[in-house]
Amino acid sequence: MVVPGEFLSYEEEFMPGKNTFSLDGQVYSALVGYAEFDDNERIVGVKAIKSARAAGVGTHVLARVMLVKESAVLVQVMTAFKDTEKRVFSPTYASIYVAHVSSSYVKNLRDEFRKGDIVKAMVAEVTPYGIKLRTNEPSLGVIKGFCSHCRNELHLNGQNLRCLKCNAEETRKISTEYVL
Ligand SMILES: [Zn+2]
Repeated sequence: MVVPGEFLSYEEEFMPGKNTFSLDGQVYSALVGYAEFDDNERIVGVKAIKSARAAGVGTHVLARVMLVKESAVLVQVMTAFKDTEKRVFSPTYASIYVAHVSSSYVKNLRDEFRKGDIVKAMVAEVTPYGIKLRTNEPSLGVIKGFCSHCRNELHLNGQNLRCLKCNAEETRKISTEYVL
């Protein structure tokens, strides 16, 4: 599934078809729908989804941490879903403010998230300035973390996470659905 402005292909590989536009030799989707690549004609088009609904409050997202600031974490949303139904999330960037991170006191956001971590979060608020997410539930938070020293995957070790490569121990706002 693609959203407006999402990159589909280079023109050398696939020419722009239905519901797409091209810019500087790159083909983008013009609307929400499913990308369809015609390998014989070398054309990419987008089949519109009329029923696609935007991500509202209560929608779950999986996102990657892009930047950890003092007051908020900036993430890029990879997928959004409500129950099992996929939702459209646009724009793809969202923020998690420090007050929405945990039900316990957060001293330093860098103890809770690091760049590159994969996070499960929920849409808390949709504003004209952007979408705010929250992780202040046990099932929400980091579901896969990466060592801040060597970038290796972190494994769950009691209440903390441990890097099996360099033996570093790190803290996060860990989801009960942590994968390793
Ligand atoms: Zn490490």
